[in-house]
Amino acid sequence: MSEILRSYEKYFRRNRLPHLWCPGCGNGIAMKAIVQAIEKNPEFNQDNTVIVSGIGCSSRASGYMDFDTLHTAHGRAIPFATGVKLANPKLNVIVITGDGDCTAIGGNHFIHGCRRNIDLTVVLFNNNIYGMTGGQASPMTPTGKKATTAPYGSVDRTFDACSLAQAAGATYVARSTAFHVNHLTDMIAGGFNNKGFSFIEALVQCPTAYGRRNKMGAPAEMLKWMRDNAVMKAAWDKLPDEKKTPEKFPIGLLYETNAVDYDTAYESVIELAGGK
Ligand code: SF4
Repeated sequence: MSEILRSYEKYFRRNRLPHLWCPGCGNGIAMKAIVQAIEKNPEFNQDNTVIVSGIGCSSRASGYMDFDTLHTAHGRAIPFATGVKLANPKLNVIVITGDGDCTAIGGNHFIHGCRRNIDLTVVLFNNNIYGMTGGQASPMTPTGKKATTAPYGSVDRTFDACSLAQAAGATYVARSTAFHVNHLTDMIAGGFNNKGFSFIEALVQCPTAYGRRNKMGAPAEMLKWMRDNAVMKAAWDKLPDEKKTPEKFPIGLLYETNAVDYDTAYESVIELAGGK
C-alpha cells in the first residue's frame, strides 16, 4: 500500500531524518510554519524558492527542507541571501536564523539588510539563548535569566529585534510564537507578500539550554508561558502601561510600510549604466 503524505511533507528531505533537535524543541514548529506559509502562496514552489540559514540549532532547518538551500557561516545568512537575490531577483529567498546568529555575530548584516530593504523574508527562531554551542547568553536572553555565561542571571539589556528591524528600515515586521502556530504561519505568509525586507520573530521553546536552566518546566509548560504572556497587537495597544509587565510582549503585525526595495533600486542603476 502506498504511503499517504500530508501536503506539507513533500517539502522535507525525509532521508535527512531523524533530525538532531532535542525532544520538545520548538524549532520544528517554526520550520513547519514556514512550509505551510509557502504552501499557501501560489507563487512559491520548490523550484523558485531558496532557503538560506546561518549557524545554530535553528539554522539546521535548511538541511531538512527540500528546496535549494544554503547552510552558510555563522551570522552570514543575510549576505549570502543578498547575493542570491541580486543574482536572480525572480527567486523567493527566505532566511532562517537564530537570536545569536542574527543579532550578535550577524547583527551588522541584519541592520544593513533592513536598511537596504532587500526583498528577503527573514524568520528569526528566538530561543533566547545559544543552544547548540552550550547555552551561552545571546543578545535576546532576557535580563535576569540564566545562561552558562551568566550563572547568576544576565545583567545585559535585551535586544528587541522587531524594534531594531523597524528602526533599521525593514518594511514588514511581525512576531509570533510556537504556541500560536496558525498565527505564526500567517505572519510568515504576510512577509512573503511584502516586496522588501520582511522580518518575523518566532519565539520558540528551548527546553534543554534555556528552559531547564531557568526552571521554565517541560516543553508544554514553556508553550503555556507563551500563551499566557503573548498579547495580540490590537489588545497590546490598548493595554495600560502598568499591565505591560516585563514578561508580556506583543505579537502580530507590528509594523508595515512602503519603500523602494533594493532590487528595484539596483535595476535603475543598471539601466543608467546602459546595462539593459
Ligand atoms: Fe532545540 Fe534548545 Fe535543543 Fe537547540 S538546544 S535543539 S534550541 S531544545
